[in-house]
Amino acid sequence: MLSRETFLEIDLSAYQHNIRFFTKKLFPTKVMAVVKSNAYGHGAVEISQAAIEAGVDMLAVAFLEEAIELRSEGINVPILIFNYFNPRYASEALKNNLTITIYSKQQLNEIIRYVPHGLKVHLNLDTGMRRLGPSVEEAYELAENILKAGYELEGVYTHFAVADETEERFTIAQITKYRHFIEKLKKAGVNIKMLHVANSAGSLRFNYPVFNYARIGVASYGLQPSEEFLIDDLIPVLSWKSAISYVKKIKKGDSISYGRTFIAPRDMIVATVPVGYGDGYSRGLSNKGEVLISGKRCKIVGRVCMDQFVVDVSNLKQKPKMGDEVVLIGKQGEDHITTEEIARLLDTINYEITCAITSRVPRIYL
Ligand code: PLP
Repeated sequence: MLSRETFLEIDLSAYQHNIRFFTKKLFPTKVMAVVKSNAYGHGAVEISQAAIEAGVDMLAVAFLEEAIELRSEGINVPILIFNYFNPRYASEALKNNLTITIYSKQQLNEIIRYVPHGLKVHLNLDTGMRRLGPSVEEAYELAENILKAGYELEGVYTHFAVADETEERFTIAQITKYRHFIEKLKKAGVNIKMLHVANSAGSLRFNYPVFNYARIGVASYGLQPSEEFLIDDLIPVLSWKSAISYVKKIKKGDSISYGRTFIAPRDMIVATVPVGYGDGYSRGLSNKGEVLISGKRCKIVGRVCMDQFVVDVSNLKQKPKMGDEVVLIGKQGEDHITTEEIARLLDTINYEITCAITSRVPRIYL
């Protein structure tokens, strides 16, 4: 039901275009589609299906529940779980044919207690992120223990800390540490099938043919992976639309919304939009954000509430009416409000904007 005419339009052909852009550009390195956090807010099941249709043969999520959701929807390509894995659920990973990340001795020993052998695992090597995983010095012993347990050590990966920044030295040092570790394994007769280091930004700058997968998240959604360099070939996948719920004239000196943070400097016409922070439209956009109505930018006036906010429509040639389209993210007429623009206003990154859109907003797939 779309009673308030508020929804996200998810353009799956744009997503597939972005995936194919990476597939071509990175060949022979393959694309692992990162669909964690509900595919960065875009809808994990539909996005995963679109990825597979576009030729992707491996997906990645953060947590077990996300992988099980995909399996329960009939998605049967390999799925890597990146993040914390609770050893108590090891048999679920086995049962659902999921690949888990091993990042510590303690974690491995506990997992072995629940599933003594047969698991497919990737080792997460810490080369500079200091988030999960052993250092190069500690990782060799962990790899040995994984093999001793009779698990398949299918992959070894690391994650870049600053691939999106102009400074390259730190990333190159991360790659060097990773390659040393892989060489050490090779010398010991351990050949690893899947080698992956790069995220979206990293894959465009540091793609070596020896790494056979790149983990592509943000850019596959048409979002720019870096503020430092822009990729023209990407098409944004998500648009956020709503419709005006109310229009009124207010007088000079009237205040708008909670806290009376906006006082009308003149007589104005304002419109109410039935979207708020309960939908993931940040309260930080109060008196800052803009939306598109009749192809023109209209500024948010006053505080964003849980379910609605007010915009100044005095600049529009024709007074808008209830039901007129409002674009919060995306194109209308000649103009375009980007996720990046909203992120800048909120002093955050585009990832956070789309991930924050709550399940109250229906996703419509084009
Ligand atoms: N690999 C890992 C381990 C991640 O945690 C993420 C996302 O944060 C990605 C890859 C994808 O990164 P991006 O969205 O920048 O492509």
